[in-house]
Amino acid sequence: RRAQAAEARALPARTRDGHSVSIGANINLADQAAFAIAQGAEGVGLMRTEFLFLERGETPSEEDQYQAYKAMADALQGRPLVIRALDIGGDKQVAHLELPREENPFLGVRGARLLLRRPELLVPQIRALYRAGRDGAPISVMFPMITSAAELLALRETCERIREELQAPKLPLGIMIEVPSAALLAADLAQHADFFSIGTNDLTQYTLAIDRQNPVLAPEADSLHPAVLRLIGLTVQGAHMHGRWVGVCGGLAGDPHGAALLAGLGVDELSMTPRDIPAVKERLRAAELPALQALARQALAAPDAAAVRALADGGEGA
Ligand code: PEP
Ligand code: MG
Repeated sequence: RRAQAAEARALPARTRDGHSVSIGANINLADQAAFAIAQGAEGVGLMRTEFLFLERGETPSEEDQYQAYKAMADALQGRPLVIRALDIGGDKQVAHLELPREENPFLGVRGARLLLRRPELLVPQIRALYRAGRDGAPISVMFPMITSAAELLALRETCERIREELQAPKLPLGIMIEVPSAALLAADLAQHADFFSIGTNDLTQYTLAIDRQNPVLAPEADSLHPAVLRLIGLTVQGAHMHGRWVGVCGGLAGDPHGAALLAGLGVDELSMTPRDIPAVKERLRAAELPALQALARQALAAPDAAAVRALADGGEGA
């Protein structure tokens, strides 16, 4: 039975009528790669790099970062690897960076906003990424908390300058869609981004105006809220209009109901905690795409998250 389960995990997330969704893992350390692959991951859809800054008392050097990215790429043995540039601020504070105190850190200088203001953080990280790419690893770089095309273009410019200095090959440059403005502007942003990955944790927080860490409001911070789903739908449309792929790397991707809806909305890739992969694959392999699309259409028209959950429960065979 155990061998059977392992075999099932290795199968693709392909619906009964042949529609495939790529499955990635959200992991940060190379020594988690073997477990992720055993759970059925086809690559890494989100490597958060904050841990490099959080786990030690100082900023990691370019060389330290290069080693960490290379180790992950090596552990993946040619599988795709999406590495996210530093997303400090908000819930991720780093004492030794001595960032100014803010009244509302979630609405403050975090993610891309911080990278654009602190080249001494951005430049070594981008250099380390291109050095790892120069070794031939299939690395994509992703920027967090993008709210406008201007931010993305400024970051692309820095990347291109560093790439030329290092004479490294191009790497796909993508962005997180995790702020409502980015979802609403997806069709515009897709002209300048090579791919999108939707961060449903922050997208839910910013759409519903619910602090993602507030325990009192946790039951209401449901990513299946139709307002969040509509923003995801817009993002997929905008990406596909320009031939870009779009993934989801927030928590919704690892919820079988969420995964079914996201596939129905046209999402191309789902990236999640390795432990969540088998149930998501099972759900998608039991489904047919037209039924998932019908479920998604109904969900977009639902009044609230509870109604969406009820639909997804009822449409178990979808
Ligand atoms: C998200 O916001 O959904 C996401 C994947 O990023 P993080 O949880 O690291 O903010
Ligand atoms: Mg986020």
